[in-house]
Amino acid sequence: MMSNETSVKDVNETTMSADEETRHCVRCGLCLSVCPGYRESLNETDSPRARVALVQAITEGVLDAPNERYAGAFFRCLLCGACTFVCPSGVAVDRILELTRGDLAEQGLLPEALAELDARIAQYRNISAEENEGRLIWVDNLPAPPTGLGKEQAEVAYFVGCVSSFFPRSYQVPQALVQIFDRTGVDYALLGGSEWCCGYPMFINGEMDKARDLIRHNVEAVQAMGVKKIVFSCASCYHFWSHSYPTALGVNDLEDDLGIEVMHATEFLADLLEAGALPLQGDEDVREQVVTYHDPCDLGRKGGVIEAPRRVLAQLPGVRLVEMAENRDSSHCCGGGGNLESFAPEVGQAVAGSRIRQAAETGAKTLISACQQCERTLANAARAERIRVRVKDVAELVLDALDEAQSSEGD
Ligand code: SF4
Ligand code: SF4
Repeated sequence: MMSNETSVKDVNETTMSADEETRHCVRCGLCLSVCPGYRESLNETDSPRARVALVQAITEGVLDAPNERYAGAFFRCLLCGACTFVCPSGVAVDRILELTRGDLAEQGLLPEALAELDARIAQYRNISAEENEGRLIWVDNLPAPPTGLGKEQAEVAYFVGCVSSFFPRSYQVPQALVQIFDRTGVDYALLGGSEWCCGYPMFINGEMDKARDLIRHNVEAVQAMGVKKIVFSCASCYHFWSHSYPTALGVNDLEDDLGIEVMHATEFLADLLEAGALPLQGDEDVREQVVTYHDPCDLGRKGGVIEAPRRVLAQLPGVRLVEMAENRDSSHCCGGGGNLESFAPEVGQAVAGSRIRQAAETGAKTLISACQQCERTLANAARAERIRVRVKDVAELVLDALDEAQSSEGD
C-alpha cells in the first residue's frame, strides 16, 4: 500500500515520454534555485534546465547523437526531485532524467564506474561485492540474537538494505530496529542471504531490465515466508518497492494484488508508539533534547512519507523538534542520491556539507534522519566540516528512549 499521507507530486505518475515532457519547459530557471548540484557549482551545464534543453536539442536534431560528455551531465545528478517539485510548468524533470539515463545506457554510454556498480550487483546481489550470505553480520554484537533470525514464516519481514548490511557505520540502524521489534513482540523475520539488492541502483543507472531479476527474486522470497507486511529502514528501498515494483511485476498494487503491505520503518514505529506498545517515561522525568530532522528525498518529496517520522519524534519524551529552513517537500538532498558516490563523489560531498551546515544553523545538537544512506552521508559531512552535530536514525532515538525508560525502572 502506498503511504496515505498528504501526497506530494508523484513524478513517476507521468505517462509522457522524455521528449514530450521537455516541450513544457518555459526556461524560467526556477529549478536552478533548488538544484543542490547547481547551487554548489553555479555551472549552468550542471543544472536541471540545461539537462532538459539537451534532451530537446537532440530530439530536434540541433545536436548530433549523444556522446560521453553529454551522458555525464545526466549522471552527475542526485535524482532528488527538487526541480520537479518546484517547476511551475509541471515538467517531471527527474523522470526525464531517469528515462534519458535508460536511453544512454542502451546506447553504451553508461559511465564506467556505474557499469561496474551494476556488474557488482548482478554478480554478488549487493552493492559491496561481498558474499551475500554475510548480510546479517550486524547481529553479531547485539546483546541477544534477534528473534527474527532464522525464522522461516512471519507476519512482518524486515528488508535491511545493502548499506546497513555491509557498511559498519550503518549497522546501528538495523540493530536499533530489531531491538525495538523484540521488546514489542513483533512477529518478524530477517531475510539474510535471501535478501538481494532491491534493484534501485540499477534502475537509476537506466538498467531496469537488469533490476527485474532482483525484483522478482525479492518478492518471491518474501511470499515464501507468508509475510503480510514488509518494513524498510532505507528510504530508497522503500521508494523503489512502493513505486516501481508493481509496474515491474505487472500488478497495480503490491497489497491488493499480492497481499504484501509496504511500510517504511517510521510509519511502523509511529503506529506502535501511538498504540502505546512501547514503554516510555513521562515527559517530566527526562531532560529536553533539541533535534532537527532531515527528510530523505526518496522518503519525503518522492515517497510521500513526511508526517510519520515527525509523529514518532512527537511521542518521544523530552525531544523537541526544530525544523531546518528547507524541510518536508522542500528538503535539501543529503548528497547521497543518484549513485553519485560511485560516479562524482565530490558533488555529493559538497551537497552534504551544505545540508549539515543547515542542520547546525538550527542550534540542534542532533540531526535525525530516516535513511541509512542519508545518515552515513551526513555523518561523514559533519566530520569533514568539523561540525559538532550528531547524526542518528529515528529508530536509534526510539531505542534510546526505551533504554532510558528501562534504566529508570531499575533505579
Ligand atoms: S522550472 Fe520547469 S519550466 Fe522552469 S526551467 Fe526548470 S524545467 Fe523548465
Ligand atoms: S533531480 Fe535534484 S540534483 Fe538532479 S537536476 Fe533535479 S534538482 Fe538537480
